[in-house]
Amino acid sequence: MLWFEPSSEERALLGAVEAFLKDRVIPGADARDRNGVFPADLVRELAELGVFGLMVPEAYGGLGLPSVTAMRILEAIGYADGSLALTVASHNSLATGHVLLAGSEAQKERFLPKLASGEWLGAWGLTEPGAGSDAAALATRAEPADGGFRLFGTKQFITQGSVAGAYVVMARTDPAPEGKRHLGISAFLFERPAEGSGFSIGRKEEKLGLRSSDTAQLVFDGLFVPEDALLGERGRAFYDVLRVLDGGRVGIAAISVGIGRAALDLAARYSTERKAFGRPIAAFEGVAFKLADMATELEAARLLYLKAAALKDAGRPYTQAAAQAKLFASEAAVRAADAAIQILGGYGYTLDYPAQRYWRDARLMEIGEGTSEILRLVISKKLLEVL
Ligand SMILES: Cc1cc2nc3c(=O)[nH]c(=O)nc-3n(C[C@H](O)[C@H](O)[C@H](O)COP(=O)(O)OP(=O)(O)OC[C@H]3O[C@@H](n4cnc5c(N)ncnc54)[C@H](O)[C@@H]3O)c2cc1C
Repeated sequence: MLWFEPSSEERALLGAVEAFLKDRVIPGADARDRNGVFPADLVRELAELGVFGLMVPEAYGGLGLPSVTAMRILEAIGYADGSLALTVASHNSLATGHVLLAGSEAQKERFLPKLASGEWLGAWGLTEPGAGSDAAALATRAEPADGGFRLFGTKQFITQGSVAGAYVVMARTDPAPEGKRHLGISAFLFERPAEGSGFSIGRKEEKLGLRSSDTAQLVFDGLFVPEDALLGERGRAFYDVLRVLDGGRVGIAAISVGIGRAALDLAARYSTERKAFGRPIAAFEGVAFKLADMATELEAARLLYLKAAALKDAGRPYTQAAAQAKLFASEAAVRAADAAIQILGGYGYTLDYPAQRYWRDARLMEIGEGTSEILRLVISKKLLEVL
């Protein structure tokens, strides 16, 4: 077996997930995209496969998979439905990933079993209306109160924000020392608060793509969180955030490959059926070479995400590999979806075929968890460091 091929165990697990996706997820993906409604029932069904605890150790009720295998599963879900894949990925990599990384034993025991079973979806709140790429500019504050803190501020674009059972939220607890804005930020972990307790769901976003994933604002107006809601070290959450995002980026790369492959399969199939000038359009180099480029880029993207995941599994630094995987895979997915629209011609521009959905879904992959520009900054900074 070559290093990039799935093992027989992985193949068995992937087979079970893919059978479910083929049967229960792919058929309704277009309708869910059009309705833009979060599919709570489908998420519950999917949870029975264990995919909400991909990397959670078995002792806490998860599958305990290495990152390489978990990412292959995200790719498979991305192939079936980008919206569902984002839901699963952000739950696993961001919220659950942060608990795994920084949680105390008591927090792990209380939160991981419910997160892993999918009983609670996890939402992770970093972005704010005034702070996206520049996350250290966040303005949400946690004011000391008797026995804990009170949260004030607004979190923007939070995946499963309105449907989550558990939240990880970053807020400033301490003033930043001169020139060190990343210090003084803390993370808080808490169960879904009752509406009106100083917490409410703000605006739910109408989006270009990933329309059946839930994206909402969280509004904090004095929500009380006890001292033991602190996740990790007070004032030093930014370091954990960066590590959580490294893991998240590998997941976004894997989903991108899945979406890109769906676009490739659609375009390849269509090109053998559609005739022009008396021949299937696949017989024209202008079409076939597009397919060749799509397949080659997606294979390269897969190798990049597998490399990043393998480094993570080996406990080695993988910030650079994760950034490169996400940058390349997300842009390759957009190119693949764009080429699929072109290969389908006028039909690619209609809602009768999912090529346009793939393009709309893939576009977010270039934005969330670090835009392509921010990733180019991360990658170039690292390579210039050694000069
Ligand atoms: C569907 C969806 C789901 C999301 N889910 C979550 C979530 O679960 N949790 C969460 O915390 N956030 C989430 N986000 C937020 C997402 O991570 C941010 O949108 C993203 O990081 C970009 O931030 P911004 O939108 O504020 O853009 P900005 O940071 O304002 O960037 C605007 C533009 O400026 C560019 N830019 C900014 N700084 C630089 C620079 N230094 N050099 C070059 N170009 C630069 C950017 O690349 C971009 O093109 C989600 C967003 C969406 C749309």
